[in-house]
Amino acid sequence: MKAVAVTPGKPNSVHLREVPHPSVDSVAGGNGVLVRVLKVGVDATDREINDALYGNAPPGDSFLVLGHESFGIVEEVGENVRNIRPGDFVAATVRRPGGSIYDLIGTNDMTSEETYYERGINLLHGFLTEYFVDDQEYIVRVPRGLGHLHVLVEPMSCAAKAVHQAFEAQRRMKVWRPRLAYVLGSGQIGLLTTLVLRLRGIQVCTIARGPAPNLKSEIVAGFEARYVSTRELPLEALVAETGRPDLIVDATGSSQLAFDAMQHLGHNGVVVWTSITGGSKTITIPSDKVNIEWVLGNKLLLGSVNANRDHFEMGIRDLALGEMMFPGVLGKILTSPVDGLDNYQEMMRLLVEDDDALKVYVNVGAPASRTSF
Ligand code: BGC
Ligand code: ZN
Repeated sequence: MKAVAVTPGKPNSVHLREVPHPSVDSVAGGNGVLVRVLKVGVDATDREINDALYGNAPPGDSFLVLGHESFGIVEEVGENVRNIRPGDFVAATVRRPGGSIYDLIGTNDMTSEETYYERGINLLHGFLTEYFVDDQEYIVRVPRGLGHLHVLVEPMSCAAKAVHQAFEAQRRMKVWRPRLAYVLGSGQIGLLTTLVLRLRGIQVCTIARGPAPNLKSEIVAGFEARYVSTRELPLEALVAETGRPDLIVDATGSSQLAFDAMQHLGHNGVVVWTSITGGSKTITIPSDKVNIEWVLGNKLLLGSVNANRDHFEMGIRDLALGEMMFPGVLGKILTSPVDGLDNYQEMMRLLVEDDDALKVYVNVGAPASRTSF
């Protein structure tokens, strides 16, 4: 069967190749789930992998099959699989366990080991292929009624984790009722995080570069949040107007902006960083100022990566609630379909060159039934 792969370490090596068709029996104990891939999303991580800034091939292979944002239909299950049946829509989690205690309890996203295993990213092949098999432990059911949001499940799990982690960490405050949040960046993680926060009743300013109106500002307004273009209103001016936020989530992909965010947080607040920055940029920061404010304000900086099964389930619940609260808005994120694995060059082109492409995804296969997306 066909797969889209890269040669890690070699820039711009994306290519189509043949890989063996997986079998449901390749997972021990009758726990295998064979999934026919319907759609796969790509994001900045895939771009960095193709730029050879990030990612590694599985041991013994010189290539890495790309794709970590999966959506498919179950074709076959092993004899011990419960709660998942052929015909179900599913997505797969991304990270697989190492050996730390966090991995042993299903929180692979919190592994304390340096080496981490992520399908389509690091040391394990991904989903940008016609079929994949995995253990039922890593397969999450997607409700029929959310089929039209398909590849948003994985990025939504990362947004759900980032916000959930902030609330978990803020238990240190005994009482923490955030009133105002800034979300920095209006890519998929920024927009999905905006929704997660709005569903918790928090006022949100989603901060981007481009002036409104544009598709991103339309989506932000659709979630009843405020879109702010830094070209029109610098962050300092926004803070002067709103007061300092209780929570800042950075999803800009810029380490400079991630550090800048630290200068605007309110007392007892939390900054969450979610971006992967594979480069080697160096910047100057006003370290004395940040240090004293951080100490005097009991502020917290939190990194958040990946998502475990629980976060996928939280994310799916928020997608469902989001569709109820703000009907039709989430689907606007799905801007840029590419038809078929053969069109992998177009997929990369959209990912790299098209500034208006909010979400690039590949239509790999069609569902057997009359369901359409
Ligand atoms: C993926 C995460 C992953 C992270 C770091 C992101 O693009 O969505 O699942 O943990 O990259 O590799
Ligand atoms: Zn991703």
